[in-house]
Amino acid sequence: MKFCEKCNNLLVVEKKRKNVYLVCRKCGRVYKGKGEKLRISSAVPEGKKKVVIMSERDQFSELPKTKIMCPKCEHMEAYWWMQQTRSEDEPPTTFYRCAKCSYSWRSYG
Ligand SMILES: [Zn+2]
Ligand SMILES: [Zn+2]
Repeated sequence: MKFCEKCNNLLVVEKKRKNVYLVCRKCGRVYKGKGEKLRISSAVPEGKKKVVIMSERDQFSELPKTKIMCPKCEHMEAYWWMQQTRSEDEPPTTFYRCAKCSYSWRSYG
């Protein structure tokens, strides 16, 4: 027996073609047989969808800027983006990168 990681509701077994899934009837979360998480789109509220996912190679100059103080050089402008760093249930973390000294930091707020 397995329970939903999010709401502790009992998971229901569903078969689709040859695959077996565990589905939470409460929040709609879907798990693969071995507890591996599946990406679900329909159950994710609009506001929680992934925003901008960055890879390290991406151009920072294309990112939006915001007025925030760099903790290192106190420059008042930084690029920012959001990234899902933990589970899908948690809000994405906001990252900043100083436009002057390129120092990067994150905000948990
Ligand atoms: Zn659930
Ligand atoms: Zn800086």
